[in-house]
Amino acid sequence: MNVAIIGAGFAGSYLAHRLHKKNINVTLFEKSRGPGGRMATRRDNSFQINHGCMGFSPSKLGFKVFCEDLVNDGIINKKDNNHYYTNQMNSVLKHLSKDVHVQNKTHIKSIKYLNAEYILRDQNNKDYEGFNFIIMTIPPAQILALNSNFKSTNNAPLSKVTFDSVVTLALYGSEVKNLDKVRLSSLKNLAKLSIQNEESLVLHMNAAFSNEYNNLTKKVLEPLLIQEIQKVLPHFNIQKYGHFTHLWKYGFTKKPYGEPYIYDEEKNYAICADWLNGKNVEDAYTSVNTFLNDHTSKFI
Ligand SMILES: Cc1cc2nc3c(=O)[nH]c(=O)nc-3n(C[C@H](O)[C@H](O)[C@H](O)COP(=O)(O)OP(=O)(O)OC[C@H]3O[C@@H](n4cnc5c(N)ncnc54)[C@H](O)[C@@H]3O)c2cc1C
Repeated sequence: MNVAIIGAGFAGSYLAHRLHKKNINVTLFEKSRGPGGRMATRRDNSFQINHGCMGFSPSKLGFKVFCEDLVNDGIINKKDNNHYYTNQMNSVLKHLSKDVHVQNKTHIKSIKYLNAEYILRDQNNKDYEGFNFIIMTIPPAQILALNSNFKSTNNAPLSKVTFDSVVTLALYGSEVKNLDKVRLSSLKNLAKLSIQNEESLVLHMNAAFSNEYNNLTKKVLEPLLIQEIQKVLPHFNIQKYGHFTHLWKYGFTKKPYGEPYIYDEEKNYAICADWLNGKNVEDAYTSVNTFLNDHTSKFI
């Protein structure tokens, strides 16, 4: 069996890892430079900044055991009894996908199903052929943009799933030490101030702010963020810091789909991701595990 997985976030990378362990041929397609998705880590000189997911606090034993294995492999660290983190979130996905073929910088734009085989076409109109099973791990709006024939098992529309956006601003460099974090955390519309270390921090704006501005470009967003910060720190000068702005348009699931995965046995496709049944990494993990456990015989 030749399986194509679209999206190398947690769900796609974990799926690839599990299927590879069953000796199944897997190709993981990712539109960005490498695995990450919302578990992204951005690098600038000596700085590594997680500007999406920051860590996990498992609620179920299965995911806790998975996290403990990552600790034993030296990929993540443990803090307190139930919190796992790393300053390089995407290393988790690099670790999971290390033995599979990852097709980076490949934005899948369309999918054709012909004679029981899938043909995937990328942004350069290059075709990838010969797949007899496809698994999508991307947001519902992007699945619908690919091919409107993808339905669910019970025909509930994918469009019923909704998301909150998250605007983030990362600041790094020696000047970060001098920032007044107490005043910064009093910022209106701040969801979270994530201090990663003495020299780097990330501001996550709340849904009210992020949803309102989620159609703007980063170039337009950044001055708006600066204005907000100057309300609590009047002398804030962004030029003193290494910085970048990011918009997670599909940041957190607001209304999930309501089933752990979607599977069409006849057409050999499935959909797994956090938004099927939740909003965090553990939900993506559960989506993949439930799908694979329910259909073990398919992947022998
Ligand atoms: C700011 C922020 C903070 C968060 N904090 C936490 C936290 O502390 N703890 C926690 O558990 N969760 C957190 N989350 C949620 C967590 O990041 C997600 O639940 C998880 O990463 C989802 O993984 P996924 O694989 O389902 O989706 P994604 O990570 O979104 O992966 C989808 C991948 O598909 C790729 N892609 C999309 N379309 C295409 C295409 N057409 N062709 C090829 N590739 C494509 C994307 O580039 C992406 O890599 C946070 C999310 C955000 C935004």
